[in-house]
Amino acid sequence: MNQLKLLTRQTFTVAMDLLFPPHCVSCERVGSLLCDRCIATMTPAPERVLPGLDGIRVQVNFEGAASAAIHALKYDRQPRLAEPLGNLLHQALQVANWPVDVVTAVPLAAGRLQERGYNQAALLGDCVARLNGWTFMGEAVTRLRETPSQVHLSAQERRENVAGAFGARSDLVAGKRVLVVDDVLTTGATLLACADALRAAGATCVYGAAVAGAVFHAEPV
Ligand SMILES: [Zn+2]
Repeated sequence: MNQLKLLTRQTFTVAMDLLFPPHCVSCERVGSLLCDRCIATMTPAPERVLPGLDGIRVQVNFEGAASAAIHALKYDRQPRLAEPLGNLLHQALQVANWPVDVVTAVPLAAGRLQERGYNQAALLGDCVARLNGWTFMGEAVTRLRETPSQVHLSAQERRENVAGAFGARSDLVAGKRVLVVDDVLTTGATLLACADALRAAGATCVYGAAVAGAVFHAEPV
């Protein structure tokens, strides 16, 4: 995008914010799309290990304000939330301090991408790449087939659901250390399937990062 277009868009955004001040998607306070008070209420996610990844980082638990913000990013056409949520992801990555050559994102199903107009994971990946001076390549991982919704599937069913669902471009990732970004980590099946594709395409290291992690509550006995 040339400088004039960028300036025009930024001026338009500032003007719209003045006319229609943004509200926090969690508490509705006026001033920003995700206010500092709500960010401060988010709880840190526990350390995770996913065999098959060289490292995994998740910043906060998927509940409360984090859940509200990610929901709005995905379903309420609020792509600008990728900025504050990307900052959270950036904090997680600063702790990890991985040597990354390429950042990519879990690809969205074609139908959903068309409907939503953007891939929220790609917006987050682009944000952390910019903050770290890394290269973002949204097309490094591709979807080879559509996968049914995983919402009601067990961990084993999720692995089977996404096995072989992704491919990766060896011209972009061979010999590279790749970070794959997603918005929410549940069992990790999707990230692992992406990692399999990246390794098959020659990536030497695959790291994973998500803004929020699903909270598993122990079953009552
Ligand atoms: Zn708030």
